[in-house]
Amino acid sequence: MSSSPSATSATPSKQAPSKPAPSNPCNLEHTLVLVKPDGVERGLVGEVLTRIERKGYVISDMRLVTPSAALAQAHYAEHSARPFFGELVDYLCSGRVLAVVVEGERVVKGMRVLNGATDPTVASPGTIRGDLACQRDGISMYNVVHGSDSRVSAKREIALWFPEHQGSCDSGDESVLPTEEATD
Ligand code: UDP
Ligand code: MG
Repeated sequence: MSSSPSATSATPSKQAPSKPAPSNPCNLEHTLVLVKPDGVERGLVGEVLTRIERKGYVISDMRLVTPSAALAQAHYAEHSARPFFGELVDYLCSGRVLAVVVEGERVVKGMRVLNGATDPTVASPGTIRGDLACQRDGISMYNVVHGSDSRVSAKREIALWFPEHQGSCDSGDESVLPTEEATD
């Protein structure tokens, strides 16, 4: 049954936006994602990148690296006093790592949610760790991916893995927005 174009039921409300609201440029951030050696070794690079892109984020740079101990120690410096630190550095240096700069609105927080909880056993299904990882050896957790935990960390970590980005790839305007707290 056809209806007249002027019929109210068929006419979209003038209030309803036809497009999503434009992005707020202040929310545009960069974060560092690592596909750790277990993820690269298991052939999960494509899966992880696909999930990032399906979410709507942009891969703005990436590089395959076998990290030196110095790079791994610097990357995880905040954990240097933790009992798992030595094994964590060994884990990161045990093979190739895909380092990725990911760009998007509120991407620092968003990637943490996409990655899931640190312990892959309890990471929610639907997250990268929840769906793709389960390995834990004593206090050491092998969880396929890393994601920066704040804008400040993202800036520091991107500069470590992509020194050529220094100064050109900050994670948003920190003078405008408050620093996001680390999640989980
Ligand atoms: N990790 C571990 N045992 C722990 C806590 C952490 O082996 O009890 C490892 C794990 O690989 C984790 C990394 O150390 O991804 C960094 O820990 P963090 O607490 O920063 O977790 P993330 O930010 O990666 O979720
Ligand atoms: Mg962390």
